[in-house]
Amino acid sequence: MKQPILLPSDERIRIKDFDPDYTGNYKDKDEAKAELEKNIARMAELQEVLYAEGKHALLIVLQAMDAGGKDGVIRNVMSGINPQGCRVTSFKAPTPEELSHDFLWRIHAHVPPKGYIGVFNRSHYEDVLIVRVHNLVPEAVWKKRYEHINNFEKLLADSGVTILKFFLHISQDEQKERLQKRLEDKTKNWKFNPGDLKERARWDEYMRAYEDAINECNTSWAPWHVVPANKKWYRNLVVSERLVEVLESLDMKYPPAPEGIEEVVIE
Ligand code: ATP
Ligand code: MG
Repeated sequence: MKQPILLPSDERIRIKDFDPDYTGNYKDKDEAKAELEKNIARMAELQEVLYAEGKHALLIVLQAMDAGGKDGVIRNVMSGINPQGCRVTSFKAPTPEELSHDFLWRIHAHVPPKGYIGVFNRSHYEDVLIVRVHNLVPEAVWKKRYEHINNFEKLLADSGVTILKFFLHISQDEQKERLQKRLEDKTKNWKFNPGDLKERARWDEYMRAYEDAINECNTSWAPWHVVPANKKWYRNLVVSERLVEVLESLDMKYPPAPEGIEEVVIE
């Protein structure tokens, strides 16, 4: 059975119905390699038109459990992109100043302007994920946030920002293996954060929080995608495919040449 990446807008999804090991019609990394390279090259072309035309912005929201592959997607899928036209923002626990504002204040400031691609490594969704799991605000407060998020994303969409949200879906076993590697591999030790184990222990609560966030905020103007992410190569392929598809659908054009350009002679 084919597994949807883009979710049905009219029915509630359950995360456990999605297989994190799914790889579609592909058997292994080698089979997918050419396709991924093609997508990366195509993205580079499309980004240039996005920048030149200056009419649209693209916002990519990446959410996942620890070791879920957010960094890997940025490193691989975005590797062909001109750094001048791309901004990556990693959202950590809010500072006291950020906490003294509404939860979207710090987010809004990092939304890409027209002509740019913005990548959120974690995002405003943390405010209905970790915040909910750890009761950092009362339930009555986080429950209202789904509506605030939908309205905020609608404002952005109406202002020329195309929003794509990806949940990189790994299994609990796969996370264990990846965290274990961070313990064993000297070059990965720096990535090991003992705090990740505390979050891992609350896996089921996180899955419930993700499920609600995805269902409550899967809108036509800012759709969620559940990406099978146990296999890194398939995860990268899926995200790159979707980015190419959506950038192409914007039907962008290079701006017209300055008038009289045909007569210009360079001595
Ligand atoms: P990596 O571990 O790959 O470097 P990371 O995104 O996990 O990347 P960390 O510095 O380890 O980065 O963790 C950031 C932490 O900040 C996460 O645990 C995340 O849940 C937390 N965080 C982000 N936004 C909020 C928020 N609004 N409220 C509370 N905690 C938040
Ligand atoms: Mg971390």
